[in-house]
Amino acid sequence: MNFVNIWGATTLIVCLAVGVASPAIAQVDHDEDREFISRLFEQALTQRQSYIWLRDLCLEIGPRLSGSSNAAKSIEWVKYISDTSGFDHVFLQDVKVPHWERGEAEQAVLTDSKGNELELSVLAIGGSIATPPGGITGQVLEVGSLQEVNRLTKEKVEGKILFYNPPFDQSNIMTGASYGANVGTRSRGAVTAAEKGAIASIIRSVTSADDDYPHTGTGSYADGVPKIPAAALGVQSADRLSEVIAKDPEATLRLTMNCQWFEDAPSHNVVAEMRGSEYPDQIIVVGGHLDSWDVGHGAHDDGAGCMHALGALKLLKELGINPKRTIRAVMFINEENGTRGGHRYAELAVENEEKHLIAIESDAGGFTPRGFGVTSSDEQRKKLEGWLPLFPRNTISYFSRGGGGVDIGPLHRATGTPMMGLSIDSQRMFDLHHSARDVFEEVHPRELELGTASLAAIIYLLDKYGL
Ligand SMILES: [Zn+2]
Repeated sequence: MNFVNIWGATTLIVCLAVGVASPAIAQVDHDEDREFISRLFEQALTQRQSYIWLRDLCLEIGPRLSGSSNAAKSIEWVKYISDTSGFDHVFLQDVKVPHWERGEAEQAVLTDSKGNELELSVLAIGGSIATPPGGITGQVLEVGSLQEVNRLTKEKVEGKILFYNPPFDQSNIMTGASYGANVGTRSRGAVTAAEKGAIASIIRSVTSADDDYPHTGTGSYADGVPKIPAAALGVQSADRLSEVIAKDPEATLRLTMNCQWFEDAPSHNVVAEMRGSEYPDQIIVVGGHLDSWDVGHGAHDDGAGCMHALGALKLLKELGINPKRTIRAVMFINEENGTRGGHRYAELAVENEEKHLIAIESDAGGFTPRGFGVTSSDEQRKKLEGWLPLFPRNTISYFSRGGGGVDIGPLHRATGTPMMGLSIDSQRMFDLHHSARDVFEEVHPRELELGTASLAAIIYLLDKYGL
């Protein structure tokens, strides 16, 4: 996930106040809606369908990097569970995706000027080139930001391994803001370092945790700039490295990485649909991304979001909803390192002249849902706020301005479709995100199912009342 929602508690109070006073509430008798929504929550919490599916996805298949055989298996599997859930139409959208593999495990060994060795915890950044066989060795130069590198002379950087070591800002309640502040260093660090003649680029993992699991994520190269290996260190390793080179600038680091690029691979988005009975041409789309990084299980990022979307459709079906509008769950492919699935979905929507009422994404993790971030007109957002009292207490409590998702962004930009993203309690997300800790065991069934029910509830209201 890349989307950042920075709205806080003040917004929440304002939104609640608006919600209570909204004309949408005054005009319609919502008792029936309130009752139906509470049944959605009860059913989700007791049946745990999303959680059961997520267990299969994580434990039977595992991580699903684009182009991998696991990604192909997960597409087949999600199509199968969709086919057997009784939806009206299940189909695949073909798309070619990048195919990069990490290869044999990376190594980073720090050697001080006395010859003492220390092994650091490291992961290649997605898309990185390999080091030459046997690794690349150099002295390490620590910096805090891309801007700092821009101010350095070439002589200072040339032949060195550049080490970006900005701390994660722990002061934000919405941790996505802290992630967003450092993620540019991860994606552009290698280019900025190579422009000054560095031989490799390493970063302190962008994480709120204080452990030694390195966190990967996508990196980039630029035309005309030499490609250099790029990697992330666990934060404890980053701290050790910083301490050692401060005292002993002659210390060297040997970085060994075995990554490989392959030809683009054929892949698919998976789409499950319930057809609208009155306005079949108005589509409400809800999705997550089926691909993940290649470490951990991709449980929170974004197995949870996919199972939220599919689980929401299944809940509505089981509780007897015959939608007026067409409701689609989309499991997008390739969010993490290319967004090709999201672009393909938008391209086909334009080609087929489809009309989307709204696009919704869950890509913030399977933690307790708190609200939605919405990109729409103010009137539309006010209408959504009018529904706040229909959600059970301690679930959805705001519709904040601005939000959506990486996969639905292309549809929004191509067609102007309003979009929104499910916001969750983000305290633990960036402890796990893109690391070997993002495993099924870190997902709590009740928290996950509250997200599924929240999505089902908002889809139910959007289908019934439009936007
Ligand atoms: Zn994600």
